This record gives sequence, C-alpha cells and structure tokens, in this order.
Amino acid sequence: MVNSYDECVGDDVSRKLQENIDSLLSKEKGTVYKDPGGRINIAIVYPNTYHVGMSNLGFQGIYGLLNSMKDVVCERVFLPEDKDIDEYVRTHTELFSMESKRPLNRFDIVAFSVSFENDYPNIVRIFELSRLPLRSSERNSRHPLIIMGGVCAFFNPEPVADFFDICFIGEADEMLPEFLEVYKSSVNRSEVLKKSMTVEGLYVPGFYSISYDAEGKISGRHQSEGTPENIRRRYLKDISASKMMTSIITSETEFSEMYLIEAMRGCPWNCRFCVAGKIYNPPRKKDLQAIEDEIQKALFRTKRIGLIGPSLSDYPYIKDVLKIPGVNFSITSLRASTKSAELVSLMKGHKSVSIAPEAGTERLRKVINKRITEKDILYTSELLFAGGIETLRLYFMVGLPTETREDIDGIVNLVKKIRNVSAKGYITLTISTFVLKPFTPFQWHTMESLIEVKERLRMIKKGLLPIRGVKVFHDVPKYAYMQGLFSMGDRRVSRVLENMSKNQDWIKAAEEAGLTKDFYIFRKKEFSEILPWDFIDMGIAKDKLWDEYQEALSLHTN
Ligand code: SF4
Repeated sequence: MVNSYDECVGDDVSRKLQENIDSLLSKEKGTVYKDPGGRINIAIVYPNTYHVGMSNLGFQGIYGLLNSMKDVVCERVFLPEDKDIDEYVRTHTELFSMESKRPLNRFDIVAFSVSFENDYPNIVRIFELSRLPLRSSERNSRHPLIIMGGVCAFFNPEPVADFFDICFIGEADEMLPEFLEVYKSSVNRSEVLKKSMTVEGLYVPGFYSISYDAEGKISGRHQSEGTPENIRRRYLKDISASKMMTSIITSETEFSEMYLIEAMRGCPWNCRFCVAGKIYNPPRKKDLQAIEDEIQKALFRTKRIGLIGPSLSDYPYIKDVLKIPGVNFSITSLRASTKSAELVSLMKGHKSVSIAPEAGTERLRKVINKRITEKDILYTSELLFAGGIETLRLYFMVGLPTETREDIDGIVNLVKKIRNVSAKGYITLTISTFVLKPFTPFQWHTMESLIEVKERLRMIKKGLLPIRGVKVFHDVPKYAYMQGLFSMGDRRVSRVLENMSKNQDWIKAAEEAGLTKDFYIFRKKEFSEILPWDFIDMGIAKDKLWDEYQEALSLHTN
C-alpha cells in the first residue's frame, strides 16, 4: 500500500516559514533526505515545538529507525512557534514537514509521538493547521493513516483515541517493523486496520465503543467481532538490540549539541506516584559493549554524551562508562546514595546534580514508596558539595496523597538541614503538583485542591526565603489539573480538546462538553469501577495495585 508522489510540493508554502525551517536544518548534523518515490512516506509529528521535540530521544530514535529501512522515508513535523502559527494562518499554508516541506496529507502515514498529556491540545492544533479531519470516523482512504505512539499511547490513549486510526500500546521499536509488514501487505486502509488487530499491542479505537451509566461512569466496552477484548502492552526484551538512537545533533535543543544514549529502560524502584516506573517494566539494561560502540560512533559528531535512564545509579556498568576517556558526560537525576556521589566525582567538571526526595518527611516518603531516608539525602548532599558541585537540584511534589502541612514543614526543614551540612553552593528546589496517573496505586485517589496546593507552595517559599543560596521553582498548578484530566480521561474528554481549540480555557471547555473536573480528578473511585485504561494489559494485577493503595493510605497520620 505505497503511494508515490510525483507532484511538485512546496508551491503553496509561505517563503518566510520555509526560511525558518531552512535555518533550523542548517544547524543540524544527521538530517536524512530520501527520495520519496516508491517508498512508504511517513511523517512523524511531535505535538510541541522543534526545541522540545528534538530533545526527546524517543522521537529522535523513531526517525532514525524508520529511515534505516530502505523502503521507508520518514520526515519530521513539529508544532510551529506561536508567531509561525500566525503566519501559517495568514498565508493559508498547510503544516508541512521539515525535510521535503510537504503538507501532512501528502504522506501515507502520519505518526504522532506523544509524551505529555498537556500536549493533547497541540494535537488538535496540528490537525487544524494540516486541514485534516480530526476524528478518524471523518477520514477516508484519501487521507493518511494517522497513528499514535509514545508513552501517553500506552498508559491511556482514550482522551485522544477518537482522533487516531491505530494506537501503539507499548514500545514502538518493538512493534513498528510488524506494523509496517501489515501495512505493506494490505491493499487498502480497511485491511490495514483489520490486520492490525492481529498484531499484539496494536489498538484500533474505531473497533470499540464505550457506554456510560447514569452517574457518568463507564458501564461497558463493546468491541467489533474478531477484535481482542484487551490489548497487551508490548516491550522490547533486549534494549541492546534497539535501534532507537540520537539521529540529529543540533544546538537548538535543551541538550545543545548533545548525543543522548539510553542506558536503561524501566526502573526497579516502584514509587507509587510514578507511571514510568510501572509501564516500562521490567527494567532492562543495555550491554556495556553496546553503549561503548554507540559512544565511539557519537564521538565522530560530538564529545557531549547524555546518558538516559530512570535510575542510572542502578545501571551496573555506569562506572565503566563514565571512565571512557575524551567524553563530556551528562546524566539525568541520580538517586540519593553514596554511589551517586562517587559517580559525580567521575564526571569531572560536573557542576550541577539533581536528586529527588519528592517528599519532606520519612512518613510521606513511605506512603509514596520513595525508599530513601533523610540520612541518605543529607549524606549524599554533603558528599556532592564537598566534591565540588555548585548546584544541587532537589525535586519535590506537593499535594501527594495523605500529605499534611507537617509534611510541607518537612520539606523546609530538610532543605535547612542540607544547608547546614554544607554552606557551599546553591540549592534549587523544583516543585511539581502531584498528578493522578493510570496504572499506579493512586489511580483511585483524588488530587489536592488548588487553594491548598497554592498555600503549600507559599509555605515552602516563605519558609526558605531567609535561607542563603536557596531558590524555589514550581509548576503552574492549574496545568497540573489539566494534566490530571487528560491523564485520567475517557473518550468523552476528546470533546474538551475540541472545545479548547475554540476558547482555550480547559475548565470552560470541559463544562461546554458537559464534563466536570470534579468527576475526573476530585472523586475517589471504587475498586470495582471500570477505569478507561482497564482494557490495557500492562502485566500488573489490578488487585495488587489496590492493595498497595490501601497500604499507602494506612500510613496516614490521623
Ligand atoms: S525512581 Fe524515579 S523512575 Fe523509578 S519509580 Fe521512582 S520516580 Fe519513577
């Protein structure tokens, strides 16, 4: 099912927009240009700006993986910057790809890679700018097949499921080759959809419908004949064999001119608020040889290597890797432990390190199953500052289940204690509002009220104001609630997204859609309630999650 495009493209494209893209392309090393003729033409779309999307290793990896296939050409599309969106609208230009500057509807497949729920409104924007009908039911064989991958697809695609023809429930590097075989062997779109249902992990939302009871809860899922009731999440068993690698290096990303390498996928720690810790399991480690080979290749292009993994202190070969000469390493957040301090000492010249206590008291860390003690945090901080670190970044959350103001005082006290163990350097706190996530024990819980979250943030800022060298940053809580709605949402939430494209404010958009935030994020759920993502077989028993939830609640102070 391969189309070929002889048509000259780019005629209707605004010159100014073309120049902006050319300027970005001129700073890239590794861009792939392929003749689209006779190949499957795939546009991969990141529903955020170039800067954000190009900082995402998953997106970069898919670009490289698809372009490594002879019969595929893959090009990139991003949400334009605001000023460019105005230009698109003013000049009636359809959103186009970077490499050949073709509009999205000239591709065979448009594949969205979605990593953050708060990018959902951008998905709608991209459909509008591309003049593609938003709902799969409104599209036909003249339109590209529109698919969704990325982490949001595999924990709960339901709020956007009506927009996509196929969702990848699981890791794309495991499933893409099989999907492309299905695509190639099908004569038309409806055959692609039908055959996709035979591939484990592929979900065709159009084959399912949902019913709701009088209270608005899901009362049933109804499937077309021949479709599986549940979709099992797929994962790649051996990540050493993964072809997901940094494809393009550019100064225009968060990790400027840096080559990112995935060292681990999945996390052994099981923090109760963390969806990544659940859905990427089991933890897998890349072989030392595979990493060394990747580093040697990367060194032809840059000395800056970023190691990616949820818990790199647990990567067994981390010391061997950091000892490789001639590389300027950067690593993501470390666990508070003496091993981490030792690792930082191997990264000569490293000035800033992040650790994530998440909560201020031992009790609340037990509730969320963050298995680090105050002693670990203080000792690691002391070692890090003594080793020459200039900035210690600490990640905390507010609004966690069972959290009280005592726990908030605990954050202030903990930071004061860290300051006492070392007067040197800066401490920065990054505080985010707790958001409910599927497949975690807190999926049945509620979020804290906005008034209380704001008060808790105010308490932290006030408490730390007199402390020298401490800075506090936090998210904007209202976006955490929006994220909560999209994270916990069912298919009806797609109407909120449509309304948002008209009037921006998500609360009003929800009201207009006949939905309330209270239903999705301020309501405790029963174990028996059907949750929108229950059809995904993540390999986690629901009753085990419930037991964990009950255990967490039993650690309440009252
Ligand atoms: S250590 Fe980090 S990645 Fe692992 S479960 Fe905890 S929060 Fe998630």
